[in-house]
Amino acid sequence: MSNKIWIGTNWKMTKTLKEGLAYTEELNELSKKVSSNIELFIIPSHTALIPIHELTSKSRIHIGAQNMHWEEEGAYTGEVSPRMLEEIGIDMIELGHSERRQYYNENDREINKKVHAGLSHGFTPLVCIGENLEQKNNNISKEVLAAQLKVCLKDVTKEEVTKVMVAYEPVWAIGENGIPADATYVAEAHAFLRQQLVELYGETGAKIPLLFGGSVNLENFMEYIKIEDVNGLFIGRAAWNMDSFKQILHRLDDLFA
Ligand code: PEP
Repeated sequence: MSNKIWIGTNWKMTKTLKEGLAYTEELNELSKKVSSNIELFIIPSHTALIPIHELTSKSRIHIGAQNMHWEEEGAYTGEVSPRMLEEIGIDMIELGHSERRQYYNENDREINKKVHAGLSHGFTPLVCIGENLEQKNNNISKEVLAAQLKVCLKDVTKEEVTKVMVAYEPVWAIGENGIPADATYVAEAHAFLRQQLVELYGETGAKIPLLFGGSVNLENFMEYIKIEDVNGLFIGRAAWNMDSFKQILHRLDDLFA
């Protein structure tokens, strides 16, 4: 297991501002007792970013946004630009979540533009990749992952990539209908991704945080986090409920005691 791990959650379109504030207050308190080897992050909805950022300004919780456009400004109704997010002071930008790819047709080339925009505004891009069920069944998972990684990180320099994090989230493992992946499958996928990153960036690629996500829960999180190339967990449902998130964090904290 790495000596520093990233643990966080994307709230998707779930929490209202009131619910998000109550959650964050509890997490703020909890974060004071959690080992500094655990980096915590939350990714609220855009509507909650300003107050949640203020609420966490004195804590060690990193704040991210769920999406942004790559342009600085323009006629893009409904979109939010990197300039606007920089004004709020977010730390991270989540890019390419499978729901963005599936429902809004986001592709790797667009994600790549967003990665560059995020980096130029000082955000840490959290780039989400993962094969879908059809790709898995056709035994092309590795080809898909390699292509996603290469296109999403196209023209990102060795220096810039030190700010990037990657989340491997097999699409078939995500959400209500997701089937949790076997730890051996995850280990193999992460080893492959690590190898790809090292091919692309040499020693720097060995240090890029690789997070795993997809139906991570109280029963399986420990198995996943113990995998060599898993440097963190990107958790959905099991982290939205503060009771289960607390249990996960306490048990992870024990690993560093
Ligand atoms: C996700 O959607 O990125 C995710 C990890 O969700 P869940 O843990 O609920 O499968």
